[in-house]
Amino acid sequence: MSLSRRHFLAGLATAPLAMSTKLKANPNPVRVLIIGAGIAGLAAARALTDQGIKVTILEGRERIGGRIHTSPIWPNLPMDLGASWIHGQKQNPITQLANAAQAKRVATRYDSSKLYMDARLKQLGVQGANEAAIERLVTTALNQAAHLDHDISVQAAVNRLLTEPLTPAYQAQLNFYLNSQYEQEYSGAAHELSAQTVEDNEEFSGADVLFPQGYQQIPNYLAQDLDIQLGKVVAKITYTETAVTVTTQDQSYQADYAIITVPLGVLKRKAIQFQPSLPAAKQVAIQRLGMGLLNKAYLKFDKVFWPKEIDWLEYLSPEAGRWVEWVSFAKIGAPVLLGFHAADRARELESWSDQALIAEAMQALKAMFGNAIPQPVGAQITRWAQDPFAYGSYSFNAVGSTNRDRQILARNLGGLYWAGEATHSEYPGTVHGAYLSGIRAAKQLLKVL
Ligand SMILES: Cc1cc2nc3c(=O)[nH]c(=O)nc-3n(C[C@H](O)[C@H](O)[C@H](O)COP(=O)(O)OP(=O)(O)OC[C@H]3O[C@@H](n4cnc5c(N)ncnc54)[C@H](O)[C@@H]3O)c2cc1C
Repeated sequence: MSLSRRHFLAGLATAPLAMSTKLKANPNPVRVLIIGAGIAGLAAARALTDQGIKVTILEGRERIGGRIHTSPIWPNLPMDLGASWIHGQKQNPITQLANAAQAKRVATRYDSSKLYMDARLKQLGVQGANEAAIERLVTTALNQAAHLDHDISVQAAVNRLLTEPLTPAYQAQLNFYLNSQYEQEYSGAAHELSAQTVEDNEEFSGADVLFPQGYQQIPNYLAQDLDIQLGKVVAKITYTETAVTVTTQDQSYQADYAIITVPLGVLKRKAIQFQPSLPAAKQVAIQRLGMGLLNKAYLKFDKVFWPKEIDWLEYLSPEAGRWVEWVSFAKIGAPVLLGFHAADRARELESWSDQALIAEAMQALKAMFGNAIPQPVGAQITRWAQDPFAYGSYSFNAVGSTNRDRQILARNLGGLYWAGEATHSEYPGTVHGAYLSGIRAAKQLLKVL
């Protein structure tokens, strides 16, 4: 049985009903502006609106969802250009939302995978990815780095244990492991990720599930009846303890409070001017945390030419981070492969044309499946680092940063409250972390009211 939306959301808000009645009866109702209609902003708006508070969301794009974005370009094949999975569906708040929205889900499994090796490595006698041995090396490296008096990168922690020059084969295996296990997961490069705090995040248990009809169903569900103004690019925010003025390209908005949910990448670029300036601690936290990059390349074919039953296809090649991970959509009836690039390699590829990128993808797929494979009939390629409303994919703990930086980022500042994935210290970089951060900001505000 699915939960009704009201039933579900009523469970989230902590404020007693008496408060909500009082707020509704107030002739001068409290006004709250929320900057950003991603999942964090929508979650906060939903929770506040359901308590009778007047909320307006200002969104810079001409669409809602932010880093959840289902592309409608291919008829009957919605493709998620941002988030795809509910990671760990047990007790995950997004599962509850998906149930309420009656959104169909399909599980994928990391152990449903097949490794393909480049011929050049086969010639060197390489048998496999050597993952168990490399995992032991990396685990030891991170354990040792944890006892250092200063943080170093994951790459530097591993390098400390490597006493001899690496053979090309071992180098390829190590790169493969670091890319697939760390860079693609956290979206930062191994030489940027903090060895001491990279694994400090929490996870929900249960299967990873994706939405055959697109993740967009979740923001759409939350957004029902909310006051959302699209195409409003916020450039300046002036704030005191109890009043906020938000200025967009063409208008000024007054409110009692605001919730800022823009991505860390946008804050790093100083795309919004704050008056007074943000305190030093918040500025340092913004600087210290990393904004990573994960890009997607969807290739559509006339037919499936790879094993239909497998979720993950992995490519071990001599070139670091090159077309390492692919997800097959054959299971949901789509002749589509999704290739990922993370961190440095993703950044480099953003300057390539679609044509050049597809040509390189096909080289990799030919190395995996032979020269007889067909050309793709369509492609959709993301460039999240160039997106002026994100400037990256999601945040990661860079060398020297800890989850304390996320708590500092989350601290309210006069009439300004903060949400967004980067502000969540347990589940950063995820949809559920962003969602919970929005609920947290709404609860903080309700407490004050
Ligand atoms: C390629 C990719 C794959 C991912 N895969 C997964 C996954 O499988 N599972 C998972 O859990 N998470 C995944 N994530 C992470 C997840 O998408 C994000 O953590 C989450 O969606 C962030 O939500 P948010 O509300 O914090 O930020 P956003 O969704 O970015 O919302 C912020 C909003 O602010 C708006 N904005 C920015 N600047 C301004 C401005 N100046 N004025 C007005 N509005 C502005 C933006 O347009 C945006 O709508 C992925 C992300 C990417 C990019």
